Amino acid sequence: MKYFILFGPPGAGKGTQASSMVEKYNLHHISTGELLRKEIAAGSELGLKAKSLIDAGSLVPDEIVEGMIESEFRSVKNVAGFLLDGFPRTTAQAEALDKMLAKTGEEVTAVVSIMIPDEMIKERIRHRASIEGRADDAKEETINNRIKTYHDKTEPLVGFYRNAGKYNEIDGVGTIDEVRSKICGLMDKF
Ligand code: ADP
Repeated sequence: MKYFILFGPPGAGKGTQASSMVEKYNLHHISTGELLRKEIAAGSELGLKAKSLIDAGSLVPDEIVEGMIESEFRSVKNVAGFLLDGFPRTTAQAEALDKMLAKTGEEVTAVVSIMIPDEMIKERIRHRASIEGRADDAKEETINNRIKTYHDKTEPLVGFYRNAGKYNEIDGVGTIDEVRSKICGLMDKF
């Protein structure tokens, strides 16, 4: 199995690009944000716990998302691999992922990082808010906190995966098609 990590700040276009990548490379897309929003919509206990944290622009506890990821790995077969979107988001999650995969003698294949500048993060999120109506896209304060959380907790993963020789970065500024073709140029190598 191949394990690709789609990395980048909120609003970088991970979800948009993921849909064409899963089709082209026969991958199963796992978006922890989407899985959490499903739990919220279903009104589950986990969803209730996650909602206030997501609405504040904070991260949900590592154990919650790690459990979600492991159960997806176990339940999905007949694909060439997985595309992780929004996970890992902390160094602890990255270490947990390595341990999870090591159990079956596997490892992360590559990180595909889509980078955009901070000013563009807000612009993209504002645009998405008008289309998707996500609660965490609506408030300026929540968006600011998500950007801060990204820099504080998630950005250190760039160094983590660079050290592991798995980090690949592409410029996320451009049209959807332009970014897609850069991603494909990279993914074709693995
Ligand atoms: P975005 O790409 O805009 O950051 P996501 O849909 O990936 O949005 O995530 C939405 C929210 O869900 C995050 O702000 C966070 O609160 C929560 N979340 C998603 N993935 C994780 C994760 N791996 N660890 C902790 N919290 C997460």
